[in-house]
Amino acid sequence: MTEAEDPSRDRLKHHFAQRVIHQARQILEVWQRLQQSEWSVADMEELSEANQRLLRFAERFEQAEHAQLARGISQSLQEVEANRGRLSSALITDLNRLMQRLSRTGLRHGDRLEHTALPPLRKPIYVMLQDHERGERLAKQLEFFGLSAQSLDSIQAFHATLAERLPAAVVMDVDFGGVGEGLKLAAKMQEGLEQKLPLLFFSHQETDTPTRLAAVRAGGEEFLTGTLEASSLLEKIEILTRVAQYEPYKVLIIDDSRAQATHTERLLNSAGIVTRTLFDPIKTMAELADFQPDLIILDMYMPGCTGTELAKVIRHNDRYVSVPIIYLSAEDDLDKQLDAMSEGGDDFLTKPIKPRHLITTVRNRAARARNLKARMVRDSLTGLYNHTHILQLLEDCSFRARRENKPLSFAMLDIDHFKKVNDGHGHPMGDRVIKSLALFLKQRLRKTDYIGRYGGEEFAVVMPDTDLKSAYGVLDEIRRRFAEIHYPAQPTDLFCTFSAGVVELGEHDDALMMASQADDALYRAKKAGRNQVHTLRDEMMQAKKHPTMDIS
Ligand code: GH3
Ligand code: MG
Ligand code: MG
Repeated sequence: MTEAEDPSRDRLKHHFAQRVIHQARQILEVWQRLQQSEWSVADMEELSEANQRLLRFAERFEQAEHAQLARGISQSLQEVEANRGRLSSALITDLNRLMQRLSRTGLRHGDRLEHTALPPLRKPIYVMLQDHERGERLAKQLEFFGLSAQSLDSIQAFHATLAERLPAAVVMDVDFGGVGEGLKLAAKMQEGLEQKLPLLFFSHQETDTPTRLAAVRAGGEEFLTGTLEASSLLEKIEILTRVAQYEPYKVLIIDDSRAQATHTERLLNSAGIVTRTLFDPIKTMAELADFQPDLIILDMYMPGCTGTELAKVIRHNDRYVSVPIIYLSAEDDLDKQLDAMSEGGDDFLTKPIKPRHLITTVRNRAARARNLKARMVRDSLTGLYNHTHILQLLEDCSFRARRENKPLSFAMLDIDHFKKVNDGHGHPMGDRVIKSLALFLKQRLRKTDYIGRYGGEEFAVVMPDTDLKSAYGVLDEIRRRFAEIHYPAQPTDLFCTFSAGVVELGEHDDALMMASQADDALYRAKKAGRNQVHTLRDEMMQAKKHPTMDIS
């Protein structure tokens, strides 16, 4: 037996990996706490100690990625210390990036398969349905979406599999193994675990309140009834298993007084909020475009213009109509305050302001604005960005790509012969196909890519830091896999394909030109017979179209 096959060695490795992951979770908890409170000396010490432990474990158990992240965190914390224990915008941003990476490593397992173009393989989902055949089918469908899923058909199999490997989530039929037995089984499973597992209950029939209560007590976070569909299930699992996907709030402070601005920045930074200050109000629009704040804090009186005038100018631009504006001023004349509010402001805080009051106001306003914006820029059927917003993102990304001298690709996708789906199977089935392609793209593309619904059955993808060749490769792989999904339908199952056009940002292009070129490439793909990805560069098409010629 070779070393690699030794099962006890594997178990040991798994055990060590679990300890490292556990340590990483502790760090993430402290970091998440900051999002609700203020940064204290005690937090800083706790974080630092937990990180030292992570570094020690990671080094001892040869977890290179964790060790590297721990070193990064340690370095950032030293910089905080050098800054007299204060967080700054740059440090918040750095730490948050490291924390997000840390939260993702916790979801991975250590095999080599993860280094493909696809998103990393995650921990499996265990599916336990009373109807085993149905469980098998569901697991297969989940796999098509890029998840690993396993259907288990007995309580023994469940125990054995659980002992081997903890899943990312469990889907449990309340009646698995007998009436009400699934509930008990799940409750017992949670008892034995240090960290509770995301648990989704399922019942074939509508259930009564006592059953639902029992499900909640057993740690169930979702309760599903009726038909269990892979795509809607996936949506739920995504939410439950998401860890620390948090982006710090960004606040733009416009104030001509350096002392006041610095004071405000410090207060907000101590609460993990990223800030930028602008002393010259004339540069406001450029700064807004570059920084994209969640909220603006405006001084009432500045040389050159007043706060209310500036608020009006900001509101003139469609893109910033809903960004909250908070006035900060020594003005305590109520009439003047009310006037200012009617000119596009959302709140009025008078100096001197209590730190707690400022932080809470900013957090609440920013949270609500983000929520609202998410609804404004997203398409309601698929949750993807809508037409207007995906084009804005393409524009933002093209500026950034040019500034940072990095490639940028853009793709347009259109489902083939979609009219036939609607005509043959009805509009709701058409909607299902659209939703499933949306989810499929979300699962298969990188988290840094932006996905939009461009129109009815058309999609657009903005791929930063990606050249044409890679973009083509990824999309063609998605195209091939999507064609494999079949939707249960009468009299025969339904299959769908899509065509796509993909282009890369050229030296003299802008966002609109890219969009129109992608459209041209898509048109070519349609004309050439559909179910294919095209670029405007023929040599790439030739190379890709005849892969067998190289071999022969
Ligand atoms: P092609 O391969 O050339 O793209 O053929 P196609 O039939 O897909 O193309 P066409 O653009 O002519 O038709 C698209 C159809 O998609 C027309 C419209 O009724 C349908 N559609 C648009 N939006 C929706 C939607 O939200 N839901 C459903 N079910 N159908 C939609
Ligand atoms: Mg179309
Ligand atoms: Mg179409």
